[in-house]
Amino acid sequence: MKLLILNLLAVFCALFPSTTVHNSLPNPSEPGRKPKNIILLIGDGMGLAQVTAGQYAHQKALNLDRFPVTGLSRTQSAKHLITDSAAGATAFSCGCKTINTYIGVDAKEKPCETILEQARKNGLAVGLVAACSITHATPASFIAHVNDRAEMEQIATYFIDTQADLLIGGGMKYFNQRKSDQRNLVAEMSQKGTVVSDFSRQPLAEMHPDPQHPFVWFSAEGEPTSVAKGRDYLPVAAGLAPAFLKQRSGKGFFLMLEGSQIDWACHDKNGPREVSEMLDFDQAIGAILEFAARDGETLVIVTADHETGGMTLEQGTSPDSIAINFNTNYHTASMVPVYAYGPGAELFNGMYENTEIYFRMRKLFGWGE
Ligand code: MG
Ligand code: ZN
Repeated sequence: MKLLILNLLAVFCALFPSTTVHNSLPNPSEPGRKPKNIILLIGDGMGLAQVTAGQYAHQKALNLDRFPVTGLSRTQSAKHLITDSAAGATAFSCGCKTINTYIGVDAKEKPCETILEQARKNGLAVGLVAACSITHATPASFIAHVNDRAEMEQIATYFIDTQADLLIGGGMKYFNQRKSDQRNLVAEMSQKGTVVSDFSRQPLAEMHPDPQHPFVWFSAEGEPTSVAKGRDYLPVAAGLAPAFLKQRSGKGFFLMLEGSQIDWACHDKNGPREVSEMLDFDQAIGAILEFAARDGETLVIVTADHETGGMTLEQGTSPDSIAINFNTNYHTASMVPVYAYGPGAELFNGMYENTEIYFRMRKLFGWGE
């Protein structure tokens, strides 16, 4: 599986003219305006090659092409040039560079208050959506505080301590089939008034959660890939989540949504799977942009925690094809793109450390510099 060929019909001619036609987002943002809501979208492992492969395969502009502001983020963690997703997400959630495997704690193991916890304290509605277990490193870093990202059952208890308004993702077994204790966290959430449902009972697309109650929906176990049964929910969740959270609080909301498995496909050096995960994430981005364009008070940021695979796009077997190649089965230290749209988007221009994304979100929420 070293070399994977991706055939393309018409590359440059098809791609670039449509880029301009497609870019039809209204621009509600005069510089200096502050957003009421922030949606942070994280493509795990999504470097520039991952995005480019998605563009070529799609043969027309992606939703990512519509963003008016782009930047670049440096991803190193406290002690390693190569970050993992735990330290990478903690940079966004807490604004601190921490040790790889640390979730919501700083480099001295001290719990840090996350942007989600601060949003909740300030009366905003908060939500997390992931295309993997909701206890996995990226979403967990916004709500849990542990040194070891592998401690899924311990991480799950934090979802009881901090009651999010909306949770969508996998990992139900860490809540209701626990080996470390006898707690049933699904029952505990239900007792507190949260409506909990799952894939086996109803597909997300058929659900119309009542914004009077917090809502949790668990996907199929085993964390299926985007083309597998039970994984059609990411764009659906992206369509549902902002409108739901908007109704949960008049003060605004914070939502993090993760395209989780771009990373996994690249760990496996699987080019076609990377493309399919990339396009699934881009579809979710489209649904978020649709909300933000209508709403006018929502800042949308799309970025990645790191690049995965040292992915390169090389000449394929014909002049209009590319070959996707990988140089490593782990992460790399390359900078990753940042895209922004909506009030405050202009702050995400330029080149900066990943922790800046936290500080700029905080500033835009009006919680200090
Ligand atoms: Mg992740
Ligand atoms: Zn990874």
